[in-house]
Amino acid sequence: MHSPIETDAVIIGAGPVGLFQVFELGLLEIKVHVIDSLPEVGGQCIELYPDKPIYDIPAIPVCTGRELVSNLLKQIESFKPQFHLNQEISTLEKQADGRFLIKTSQDREFLTKTVFIAAGVGAFQPRTLNLDGIEAFVDTQVFYRVRYPEQLNGKRIVICGGGDSALDWALHFIDQRENVTLIHRRDEFKAAPQSIAKMRALCAAGKMQLIIGQITGLETSNHQLTEIAVINIDGEVQNIALDALLLFYGLSPKLGPIADWGLDIDRKQIVVDTARFQTSTPGIFAVGDINIYPGKKKLILSGFHEAALAAFAAVAYLAPEKQIQLQYTTTSSKLHKALGVSPPTFE
Ligand SMILES: Cc1cc2nc3c(=O)[nH]c(=O)nc-3n(C[C@H](O)[C@H](O)[C@H](O)COP(=O)(O)OP(=O)(O)OC[C@H]3O[C@@H](n4cnc5c(N)ncnc54)[C@H](O)[C@@H]3O)c2cc1C
Repeated sequence: MHSPIETDAVIIGAGPVGLFQVFELGLLEIKVHVIDSLPEVGGQCIELYPDKPIYDIPAIPVCTGRELVSNLLKQIESFKPQFHLNQEISTLEKQADGRFLIKTSQDREFLTKTVFIAAGVGAFQPRTLNLDGIEAFVDTQVFYRVRYPEQLNGKRIVICGGGDSALDWALHFIDQRENVTLIHRRDEFKAAPQSIAKMRALCAAGKMQLIIGQITGLETSNHQLTEIAVINIDGEVQNIALDALLLFYGLSPKLGPIADWGLDIDRKQIVVDTARFQTSTPGIFAVGDINIYPGKKKLILSGFHEAALAAFAAVAYLAPEKQIQLQYTTTSSKLHKALGVSPPTFE
């Protein structure tokens, strides 16, 4: 256990809104720590639609989810946020001195004066396969996400699922000349059309095997997973020998411990006021998809606006005596300094 990190602000969630919250707080000279349960930043944009186009970000006619996140990271670079990924917040408790003690699933602790909950629809968790004995092989032979693809080189790989992740990884491993079997419960896929076409062509050419069916059992030997039993749509069961099983049944968001932090919650969303985006606990703000207020629209641009007002409200909370002047990034030398840019010259 490390000693707690002391800070002015912690942002829970590194989705697009959490990332823009870093920017808005940075302009007001508040340094932040950002925590996310996923191993990558970007929230829904990266997890659910990295390569799909977004058309309604002001002044960006079109960009993909991945491009938006990459630009947001570029925009906050000068503020040097510290990211703590792969860890969910387990508890948040107010301390006698008014600060909040946050603990994560990796036993990290933070003592912070303000908290920004930008947790979207909750922490994404992979949907798991419910089969007796499977737990023992998770992260050794059974994977819900691929962190180290090179570890699967030379293996017989079975991939389950019908979305982009399943097909992208199936095509990736075929490119690496691995032995790949794809299993999906129906002959309809929810992936990019070009990936589906490529997969079908590979199967037709006998370079990849597709089974429409479901896994019903596991065979093990010497503490190794050696085979899976699969039942196809005609009710026939076959055993498939394998070294690795990759399961992509989608991600389901879980509000999880956020529901236990004593905040006003309405239908799994945190109630906020629309002047400060503060929750029922002073010092805790909620921005983006996680919050609710009259007229709320779950759009990225709504979250960006909320982040700006929450940042100003946080300064007022942290230093009530301070007069906050609204400054423009175009003309303010103070903001240019914070952004690490040279002031523009006008003729
Ligand atoms: C298919 C699809 C297409 C979309 N297209 C558009 C579009 O064109 N335009 C538009 O404006 N919006 C679009 N949206 C909606 C948009 O993606 C969301 O409004 C946006 O992602 C909300 O951002 P956020 O930062 O609030 O939350 P999220 O993107 O959900 O990020 C929240 C982050 O918080 C993390 N988190 C949650 N709980 C915890 C916890 N306890 N501990 C640690 N981390 C936690 C999660 O892991 C996640 O990374 C689309 C959504 C989908 C699904």
